[in-house]
Amino acid sequence: MKNPIERVVAEASRCVYCGFCEPLCPTLRPGGHRGYGPRGRVNIALLVVKGYRSEEVVKALYTCLLCAACNTACPARIDIAGVIRDARTLLSG
Ligand code: SF4
Ligand code: SF4
Repeated sequence: MKNPIERVVAEASRCVYCGFCEPLCPTLRPGGHRGYGPRGRVNIALLVVKGYRSEEVVKALYTCLLCAACNTACPARIDIAGVIRDARTLLSG
């Protein structure tokens, strides 16, 4: 069983930045920039693994609804909502 760091790296590293996930995300447009959408959050999660912390990172990750709508569009089959959940765990640790 992988730990949250291993899961984030294994999943998020497969992002090819295609953006197919973004139109399905209900928080991207109101958020105002890509950090409030799945592509941004997946890549922010990788920064969290590297130890990066900021108020903006917390906001980006905690405004996700964990609805997993984005998961259905990802050609790399990343569990995006799972990545975000694990990144939150890392932020709280
Ligand atoms: S799980 Fe989060 S990132 Fe994915 S579509 Fe829902 S709100 Fe957006
Ligand atoms: S659909 Fe998947 S691979 Fe494409 S940008 Fe979104 S998370 Fe990355």
